[in-house]
Amino acid sequence: MRGHSSLLLGYGSKKRPVHVVCSPKEDYLAIITVYLPHADQWEEDFRTRRKIMKCLYCQGRMERGTAPFRVDRKGYHFTWDALPAWVCTQCGEVYFEETEIETIQGVIRLIERKTRKLPQRRELVVA
Ligand SMILES: [Zn+2]
Repeated sequence: MRGHSSLLLGYGSKKRPVHVVCSPKEDYLAIITVYLPHADQWEEDFRTRRKIMKCLYCQGRMERGTAPFRVDRKGYHFTWDALPAWVCTQCGEVYFEETEIETIQGVIRLIERKTRKLPQRRELVVA
């Protein structure tokens, strides 16, 4: 289980914005990393990550859209018709964000927990 981490914004010399990623522990604040945010990845307030993404395959521009998602597991198949996603305007490559991935994993966990309780069909033993 991943602990909570938070992103703090500070200012260094010459008012240069500095991002500090830290993880609050029971009795201290663990600093995970400190970095200088790139201006092209953040909005002017350096608090909002810019929603500009480039495709890893073709460097095309990614846009917010939806894409179908299919889960093929032993015993069942699950399909979303339209899940929020980033879609490459050039090659159509699809990326899902953490929120969507977590939703998918949550649904899979739920299905597997529920279906485990279903009565199992007895194997036919042939002598
Ligand atoms: Zn692409």
